[in-house]
Amino acid sequence: MKYYSTHNVGHKVSFREAVFQSLPPDNGLYFPEETPALSKSFWSDFPDMDRVDVAFKIARSFVGTEIPEEDLYRIVSETVDFPTPLVAVEPNIHSLELFHGPTWAFKDMGARFLSRCMGHFTEKTGEEVHILVATSGDTGGAVAAGFHGVEGVQVTLLYPEGKVSAVQQRQLTSWGDNITALEVKGSFDDCQKMVKQAFLDTSLNNKIHLSSANSINIARLIPQSFYYFYAFQALPNPEGVVVCVPSGNYGNLTAGLLAWKLGLPVHRFVAASNANTVVPDYLRTGEYHPQPSVQTYANAMDVGAPSNFVRMLEVFGQSYEKVTNMISGFSLQDPDILQTIEQCYQQNNYLLDPHGAIGYAAMQHSLKDDEQGIFLETAHPVKFLDVVEKALGHSIDFGDKIDSLMQKTTAQKEIDADYEALKGFLLGE
Ligand SMILES: *Cc1c(COP(=O)(O)O)cnc(C)c1O
Repeated sequence: MKYYSTHNVGHKVSFREAVFQSLPPDNGLYFPEETPALSKSFWSDFPDMDRVDVAFKIARSFVGTEIPEEDLYRIVSETVDFPTPLVAVEPNIHSLELFHGPTWAFKDMGARFLSRCMGHFTEKTGEEVHILVATSGDTGGAVAAGFHGVEGVQVTLLYPEGKVSAVQQRQLTSWGDNITALEVKGSFDDCQKMVKQAFLDTSLNNKIHLSSANSINIARLIPQSFYYFYAFQALPNPEGVVVCVPSGNYGNLTAGLLAWKLGLPVHRFVAASNANTVVPDYLRTGEYHPQPSVQTYANAMDVGAPSNFVRMLEVFGQSYEKVTNMISGFSLQDPDILQTIEQCYQQNNYLLDPHGAIGYAAMQHSLKDDEQGIFLETAHPVKFLDVVEKALGHSIDFGDKIDSLMQKTTAQKEIDADYEALKGFLLGE
């Protein structure tokens, strides 16, 4: 399978190159040259198919023969070895719980697959790769968990001092070994700027092999299509299914669209946002105007210029008409996020996190009588404890879940928001 750049269809690379480069040099995004339909026998076996087999067959469609079958099978079986249950919140509205992985958010799925693919390739050549990631919270923890102990890979995470939640901070700093957390005296934007500068620094790149694990990496997207298939397997009668994806960079939604392109019979999608409404606005008006991001309670979705927007359109050949036939938009402001969490808990005894709350509200708002809804519950509520407690007006006891994490020893290095400080660290100076 080849991947082309969305800026230049003529620029094609292998899966391996797309994984290590992450971004094409022309600043486009890598996109699969084709989405081969799954075979008839796949669909006849699908209702009872083992989840590893489902993942393997989808991964095979995207990776081709670049990774030998037995290795790819092992990679996907390690990727999907936590449950993704579909839970009925109301008779017609289901929550697809994607937070049962090691860092309690859906990003675990992508990070596990990416790390194992990279590990597979570096093991063969014996080369050392250095992954550099700027994180505002969830990504860094998932990447750390995914790469911890992977041979031949060093990971450096940059996070802004005082701007990540207590749980997120633990999940960034409690690994050791090949994972180093750098606490930057600055903002997330500073972290991102420092990382970008490192990738552009030729003298640094001549000395160490830098690579990225950010959400535009194609190997993070591919495994995110697996769980859409699992959700359909879990429904007794998967007809008229509307899937709602709480979105920030729109990677998760794009993965859902790839699943649909592979033949999964999704009736339609809802793109749900917080106060960062550029994509719902685009779907309504046909005009796309990236904005500076606005801070909200659903902070993993605080994105004003979504990096996967171009890929989302690419699925539809950049046609506004085709996009809007399949996807509608929805957005929810902060006060309504709190209210939704509270109401859903009172009425259904189901505790949403702020991101899932947006998905649930979208389903309540837009589901028609002959449809059934699935929203992606992208994080465990404990990750956003302060927001959830604010919504309910009382504290919640999550028992051991949080205690064992909080007891872990942590280590981080403080650095200034200055590129030379990062470079010095990377070169071991
Ligand atoms: C990253 C994240 C999102 C947004 O996902 P995208 O793929 O960037 O659209 C939503 N919810 C949570 C909890 C996240 O961590």
